Amino acid sequence: MAAEVGRREERLNPGEIFRNNAFIIITEMLELQNQTEKDTTMLVDEILHSILFLGKIHDPPFSPLAIFDDDEEMLNVLKGDYPRPFALYSSQIPRRSPFSCVLDMMVHVSGQDNEEGIKNRLQEFTNQLKKGANSQLLFCSTMCVSHINEPNSVRYYGVSMSNAGRKSGRILVNAACCSAWDDYVAGAVMTFYPKRAKRPNFDGTIRLPEGVTCQAFGLSDGREKPPCRSCATLFGFQTTATESWANGNCAEVESLSNLFKNENHIKEQARPLSETWTEGARQTVKEEVLRDLKNLLKAVKFEWENNFYTPQIN
Ligand SMILES: [Zn+2]
Repeated sequence: MAAEVGRREERLNPGEIFRNNAFIIITEMLELQNQTEKDTTMLVDEILHSILFLGKIHDPPFSPLAIFDDDEEMLNVLKGDYPRPFALYSSQIPRRSPFSCVLDMMVHVSGQDNEEGIKNRLQEFTNQLKKGANSQLLFCSTMCVSHINEPNSVRYYGVSMSNAGRKSGRILVNAACCSAWDDYVAGAVMTFYPKRAKRPNFDGTIRLPEGVTCQAFGLSDGREKPPCRSCATLFGFQTTATESWANGNCAEVESLSNLFKNENHIKEQARPLSETWTEGARQTVKEEVLRDLKNLLKAVKFEWENNFYTPQIN
């Protein structure tokens, strides 16, 4: 399969990279599903919806059949097993990027504390994918691990989105801010979002408390990556990095969101200190981000019925 994929890639245009990666990701999810006894139906359901949605808003769009490389049999089997993603990909939007589902699956298969195993698996897998200017969120370059600095503490993972600066990426960052990420983390991101400038009347930036590690790794070489300047500002990190990625793009965001959702005492220590961080202001900012989301969806001609997709066990 690897040789075959390699041959195909040589003649891939940017749209084909999307289709190629979509197909590889779905196939991998189905294979991983067989490697765990845990019920991962919801993750497969979620990623199918997420990828079909991205195909729908892709320019040019990819129908489900095109995503499955005209393999009608595979399409029909999946439609039978997972009818909801196929029924709702053109009216509801995903809460997170497909790669977040891949990561969750790898955590299930390898075990939550098996940091090295998860990292290696993800590294091996992303190396099979093609990176291109238009790979539109079906690529991942960085993962992040956060944990409390205590022996045997639980590891919380996150992955980066690629192309968060593009429309499809911005749609997913908006959606995650409004529906998936921990509210403190989303508040920090939204302090500089959707515009990259800091809001004059809302500061939700966080200072990650002492005794917590949040470390990103590059998936091409497995090396530690310093936080970018944007993450340094959002979460109070020291950094030597000079680059600054689009807000919400980085693996740190998802990893910290998972940590805060599970370690409430750490979250409370990270509570933003600004006087502008009020319930009313948070609501206003969220409404603004939601408005931006609606405008972006209009721009890609997506008719949204105002629901975020919730995967279910059929
Ligand atoms: Zn960053």
